[in-house]
Amino acid sequence: MFLKFPVLCLIFHCAYCISHHPILIIVSYDAFKYNFFDTKLVPHMETLKKQGTYADYLLNVFPTKTFPNHHSIATGLYPETHGVLGNTYYDPKTKQVEHIGPQMFRYSNNVVPIWRLNEDQGNGRYSGSMMWPGAYYPYQGKNITYRQDFDDNMDWYKRIDTVISWVTDRKKPANLVMLYIEQPDTYGHIFGANAPQFKDMLRKLDNITKYLQDQLESHHIADKVNVVHLSDHGLITITPQTFINITQYMKGGTYTWAGATPCIQITPHKGHEEEIYTALKDASIKNGHFKVYKKQDFPKQWHYKNNPRSAPILVMADVGWGLDDMIEASKKYAKIFNFTLTNSSEFGVHGYDTSVADMHPYFMARGPKIKKQHKVSPFHTVDLFNLFTELLELPQMPNNGTLGNIVDILNDNKQGRYNVGSVVMVTVGGIVAGLFIIALITVIVLLIIKHRQNLTTVAALNKRFPQTFQNHIESQHLLDAEYA
Ligand SMILES: [Zn+2]
Repeated sequence: MFLKFPVLCLIFHCAYCISHHPILIIVSYDAFKYNFFDTKLVPHMETLKKQGTYADYLLNVFPTKTFPNHHSIATGLYPETHGVLGNTYYDPKTKQVEHIGPQMFRYSNNVVPIWRLNEDQGNGRYSGSMMWPGAYYPYQGKNITYRQDFDDNMDWYKRIDTVISWVTDRKKPANLVMLYIEQPDTYGHIFGANAPQFKDMLRKLDNITKYLQDQLESHHIADKVNVVHLSDHGLITITPQTFINITQYMKGGTYTWAGATPCIQITPHKGHEEEIYTALKDASIKNGHFKVYKKQDFPKQWHYKNNPRSAPILVMADVGWGLDDMIEASKKYAKIFNFTLTNSSEFGVHGYDTSVADMHPYFMARGPKIKKQHKVSPFHTVDLFNLFTELLELPQMPNNGTLGNIVDILNDNKQGRYNVGSVVMVTVGGIVAGLFIIALITVIVLLIIKHRQNLTTVAALNKRFPQTFQNHIESQHLLDAEYA
């Protein structure tokens, strides 16, 4: 009898070892294309998708590469604003090609990722990152509470167990965790999306999705944690028959190369700008399967040119085509993974324009603040930041996303700050107030006009007729006939 009370206390206490703030886990599977559900290899994901809210696809940012897109998801900003312009880029400040590291992600102190914004509110808000690209580094001089740097040797189940341990930590329970898994991207690049190895990876991702859900349920927190599942981009499969050697058109030692198929950032050395542009442009016309842009001509919808890290020349392979780095990478993959490289060997690539459907990632979400069995229209990757701030009840931050694009994901049950009821009330209230002001102004203007007309009418009549009219009403019938 006496033992029961402490045991019950322990059970009760552990069931509530979570943050008193709204809780959100964001899960990214790299290169999980929107239509991988059609493979029928991900039944658990399909079930979750139908239970919560999903979109057919997300409209991601250019270039459709991993680091720019993950940072746009985390900040709500386009690459030209957050400064992560590619998986590598040439930095005119350091005069070298930069790879992943704090210098890549910390372009400006004004860039505040969601994990930093969450923890900056204090009052027991803690953020965690399980390998999310860029979240390992300090922002605004501060690190978040829980961080695991990228380590592809770390078992996926262990990653999820660790995430759950952060969320249920007795002293500092995380209320925001970013979870990143590098597949199916890695196997997609090496084997292409039709390979059995790739398909096996989709099955494994399906299994860990179920594992995460099972863990939330076994900890009795599934109805308290919002989970957003998404990806950064899709991919397509190409073969060596479409690889183009573009370095043959430029003199060695006259430029710096950054980026990878299909978009290459070329920085000509001083004095070689026009020579390189003209050579590449001529070659692109002759070849017909890649395009060359000067920085001032980058399409506006890329949101890519207004940044000093943006290279003076960009080479873009057409969809389905690869460039020099693929010639090298395919040889390397064949050697490391022990297969014979042929003209029909398949490799996965991404990075093409955001208008290419194969580049689009998936989106689905579930949890207490998210609508059940609901589908929303496709929206932009940069809109996600607003979704996160709404789910976490954080202050709004200026960003490139549109709040209105994500409101329909949020539950109507008063937990969202912008539930449909309040939106309708605010809208109707605004319209009524606006109409009242317009009516008031109209009445005042009419009274002024009437008063002036009265004076004019009386003056006109006094001029035309020798008698004096005392007021407008008295004189009106005389003028009406003249102007009828
Ligand atoms: Zn990626």
